[in-house]
Parts: sequence; structure tokens; C-alpha cells
Amino acid sequence: MTFPSTRGGPAAKNLSEALLAGLAPDGGLYVPATLPRFTPADFDGIDTLPAITHRLLAPLFEGDALAGDLGPICAEALDIPAPLVALTPPSTWLLELFHGPTAAFKDFGARFLAACMRRVHTGTKPLTIVVATSGDTGAAVGAAFHRVPGLRVVILYPDGRVSPRQAHQLGCFGDNVQALRVAGSFDDCQRLAKQALADRDLQAVVPLSSANSISLGRLLPQMAYYAASSLSHWRAHGRALGFVVPTGNLGNAMAAILARDSGLPIGRIVLATNANRVLPDFFAGAPYTPAASVATLANAMDVGAPSNVERLRWFHPDDDALRAAFTARAVDDDTIRTTLAAAPARYGTVLCPHTACAAHVLEGLRAEGDDGDWAIVSTAHPAKFERIVEPLVGHAVEAPPALAELLERPSHAEPIAADAGALRAVLER
Ligand SMILES: *Cc1c(COP(=O)(O)O)cnc(C)c1O
Repeated sequence: MTFPSTRGGPAAKNLSEALLAGLAPDGGLYVPATLPRFTPADFDGIDTLPAITHRLLAPLFEGDALAGDLGPICAEALDIPAPLVALTPPSTWLLELFHGPTAAFKDFGARFLAACMRRVHTGTKPLTIVVATSGDTGAAVGAAFHRVPGLRVVILYPDGRVSPRQAHQLGCFGDNVQALRVAGSFDDCQRLAKQALADRDLQAVVPLSSANSISLGRLLPQMAYYAASSLSHWRAHGRALGFVVPTGNLGNAMAAILARDSGLPIGRIVLATNANRVLPDFFAGAPYTPAASVATLANAMDVGAPSNVERLRWFHPDDDALRAAFTARAVDDDTIRTTLAAAPARYGTVLCPHTACAAHVLEGLRAEGDDGDWAIVSTAHPAKFERIVEPLVGHAVEAPPALAELLERPSHAEPIAADAGALRAVLER
């Protein structure tokens, strides 16, 4: 399997090459040349998350040096529960993706990427992974790569725009994981990371790679929990399950779309954004117009220029067909607050602000008469956003044990300007 770039430049010869490079040399994103086509029966007798993922991704690893290791990679990286939990309203489930080490869905992709990278990277110089984060990616990548030999991680995050617990997590790893707090927005962080990755002179001195949701090594394993949950729903009920996905950079939703395009029994896929409404406006008919991001309560979705749009349009080149196939709706902060406050009584559980966006969008679909089977995708544990959630629900939200353990460690982040030269100086150190 080869992996073309969305911008038409040279394709990666195999998945390992695409993983190591992160971004394609022409600035585009790598995509699989073709997607496998499965039917639910192809997964008969296979029911664990690692085993389903192995079956699903095997065609993409064909001919790659990592192919023989795919089983162990899935077993090592995807040993995180992803339960589909029935909620109080009928035909409504919560896909809980917050049972990993940093209590957000990004643990799945980050751990898979780390498991691949440590097998692929054979150079003598350490490989530096540059990662821009709006909050949760950096922690997941830090946790996944911490103390992995031959690999170093530099995390860029927008100073003052992540929750206190997120900031603490980002700075708590140390050793081969360094946190930089950037005087700027998430989009500035993402731009700096892209500039560094595209800088050939810098790369000659400091080999770089990415771990952002632009990396195929994160995107592909995220198909796992859509495959596993839709199959279990199909087996139990004989119906396709729809998903409402909290969306920022479109990495998580893109994985749902790829899983459906690969033949998994997935119904509608609806995107829920916060007040950053570039995607809802595009799906409602406006030209695709990236904008500066605005800060919201669902901060991990504060993205004004969602990178994966380029991938989405590569797979679905006709914008009108795209608009017919998907729905995206924006949720403002006041609505996030009322949804969070109502969640314990309405759903029987406490939600995080990102998940609340998806819950609200589903409430809108229900109000329009949709009585299908839906899963709200829960992207993070509410305890990560305790300062927002606790006052609204009126009680403390206990941190899961892994998160509590990280929060007890000391934490340090270095301030830098939102400037390519400043980042280069740190990378060359
Ligand atoms: C990253 C993140 C999102 C957005 O996911 P994308 O893949 O960027 O669309 C949503 N919720 C949480 C909690 C996140 O950490």
C-alpha cells in the first residue's frame, strides 16, 4: 500500500515512511491510496478492540516493515477500554473514550503512534516529535512517549488557553518530554509545528516528526473504537449506530468517516463544534474559509483551521456531495453550560464540555424527530475540566486514578514567543 499526499506530491512508499515524515514534503497530508472494503461478517468471531483493529488495519500495513508487528502494536497500544454505555434517554449511548492514561480519546492514537515509532525509528540521532496541542494531544503524546529510547517530544501549547489541569499534565513528564507554553493561540502553535516540519535545513540537524492529528499513526487507530462499537451494536440490535462527534481539528470524526467508508455498520456521522463554526458554515453551504480560532469552554476544539479538512476533501472531492453526506452544528458557551448542568438528570452521568457539545447537537436531532440509534462520543473525562463542570453540577467530580497520579507530579513549562526562530532555538539545543 502506498500513501499519496493530499497535495499531489510524491507518495510515501509505505506506512512507515508516512509515519516517520508526519507531514508530506509538499506540505500535504498522507492518505491511504485505497481503503479496504469490509462487511460486518468479515469480523465474525473477532471481538476485542486490538483484534478488530488488527483485522481492520492489516491491509494498510501490507508490504510494510511493521506488518508482522501489527498484532503486538495493537495489543500494546489499544489495551484501553472503550465501552458503549446506555444512557437514560431511549436509543442513546455514550461511547466512553476517556479510560486511558490522560483521560481523553487522544490516548488511543498517541499510544499507537508511539508503538509504531519506536519500532520504525532506527537512526542514530534521536527523533524529535513536535506536537502542537489545544490541551489534550500534548498530554496523551507525552504519556505515550515518556522514556521511550531514541525519541524526544517537544510540546507547544497556547499559554493561558488550556485548563489548569491540562497545563499541569503537559508539564509533568520531564525526561525526554519538554513542554513549551507559547504566547499565542492553538493555530499559532500548529503553524509553528508545521513550519518546523517543513524546514529542510533544520531537519538536517534535528530530525523531526509530528504527532499531531495530521499523523496517520494517530488517525488510523482511532478507527478502532468506531469499528468495535458499531460492530457490537450491529451484533446486538441488527442496526447501524450513528455517532455525534465533538470536533475541532476533525481527526476523531475523520476516523469515524474512514471506518464507515471501510464498510463498518455506521449510520449517520454528525459533527458538533463549539463556537468555532468554520465547519458548520461550510456544511451549510458557505465556501470553506479558515478563520482565527476563538476561545471557548470546550478548549480542545478551539480550532479555526481544521487540518483534516484537506483529507476529508481528498476522499470526498465533491463539496456538494460532502454537504449532502454530513451535518455539522455549532454550540455556543451558554448552551454548553446549560447542557452540562442538565446532564446528570437528563443522561444519568456528568459530561465534559466537549462531550456536552455533542449531547446538545443530538438533542437538536431528537427535537426534529430523529429516533434512530445514536452514540454521543465522549472525548474526555469531566474531571479534566473540573473548574467548569463542578460549579454547574454542584458537586466534586473525582479524577480517574491515572489522571490523579499525573496531577500529583511536579510540573514545568518554558515560555516562548509564537515565532519560528524561538522554536528553532529550542529544537537545536
Ligand atoms: C482533541 C479533542 C477534541 C477534538 O478532536 P479533533 O480530532 O481535533 O476533532 C474534542 N474533545 C476533546 C476532549 C479533545 O481532546
